[in-house]
Amino acid sequence: MKRRAGIRRAQSALACPIQYNLHSTTGRQAITTHTVSSSASDGEAARLPFHTLPENIVCIDADYVQPQLACFYLVGDSGEYALVETGTNHSLDNLRRTLNHLHINDSQIRYIVPTHVHLDHAGGAGRYLQEFPRAELLVHPRGARHLINPGKLVASSIQVYGQETFTALYGDIIPAPAERTRVLEDGATFTIGERTLQAVHTRGHAEHHFCLWDEQSRGWFSGDMFGISYPGLRFAEGDFVLPATTPTQFDPEAYIASVRTLAARNPAMMYLTHFSALPFRPEQVDMLCDQLQHYAALGPALAGGAQGETGRDSGRYLQLLQEAVLERAQHHLEQLTSPEKAQAAAQALTMDAQLNAQGIAFRQAQSDSHHRETPA
Ligand SMILES: [Zn+2]
Repeated sequence: MKRRAGIRRAQSALACPIQYNLHSTTGRQAITTHTVSSSASDGEAARLPFHTLPENIVCIDADYVQPQLACFYLVGDSGEYALVETGTNHSLDNLRRTLNHLHINDSQIRYIVPTHVHLDHAGGAGRYLQEFPRAELLVHPRGARHLINPGKLVASSIQVYGQETFTALYGDIIPAPAERTRVLEDGATFTIGERTLQAVHTRGHAEHHFCLWDEQSRGWFSGDMFGISYPGLRFAEGDFVLPATTPTQFDPEAYIASVRTLAARNPAMMYLTHFSALPFRPEQVDMLCDQLQHYAALGPALAGGAQGETGRDSGRYLQLLQEAVLERAQHHLEQLTSPEKAQAAAQALTMDAQLNAQGIAFRQAQSDSHHRETPA
């Protein structure tokens, strides 16, 4: 997911204690929260910015915009570690605190593996390579050149956010040295100690996206492909997931195919980037696919209401799309909780719905121009 402008990055984790309130329900694995006493003068306990998951996986808050919005993972075996996702340059503080607490040395970090090159997932890659001298960057073949030479990535992001917000969100993007960057083709594997992770290319959100399969925990590090499920969207009746589209490469059919590919391995766990571990349920697949099918139909259906003005710059069209995205989200939320709570939860998704509307509008504009170019 690429986040939007206009939101101030959260203050450092020290100034803004991070609270984890991921609740436990039947069948859900317990998530350990670590607490240390604070040396801060207010005497409040400062919470560490990570929580441990079963099977030697640690989920670290990326401190992106606000707590519990984006995370990255430390996966270990036999004293070796991979970082799955990096967060941004600003996430390094939380990573440092985590490594200190867990007594992990810099030389034990062997791989840095962003699921795709959007900056909330890979923005820290170049800097992390400087910090961790033995680490190698593993990336999708279509993403590697953007991390080695991030000029285009940075320019397009500045175009969206403006220089000031870009710097606040991401800092200076440092190029990754080509000699320390390796691409992972579809199906390629790498090992941490005795543990094997496999990259599976997954289109639909971005052309440069893969998910990582972890056989040991039977889990997917799903990046943006299994959608968004913030802690406030988890209910005793089930967890809500919202698809994450992008303004430039959204492809609903490919996205649905990718979700089905993930589900076909019969996973136990989804390690979402937005946010943390989600115990897998087949209903989540239905929920994602229903919304994606809905998105595919919305593009042409709402074009009439916007007087045929489609595309990413059409205000009225985007507004209609955003409302429809939220309406569908609320429909699913109402199966999981009371109408009041469902409405509140849907409202909290307004920003994400705005992004999804842009993705649908982009797709529609593409289809419009295709029809114009194709002779009858
Ligand atoms: Zn993304």
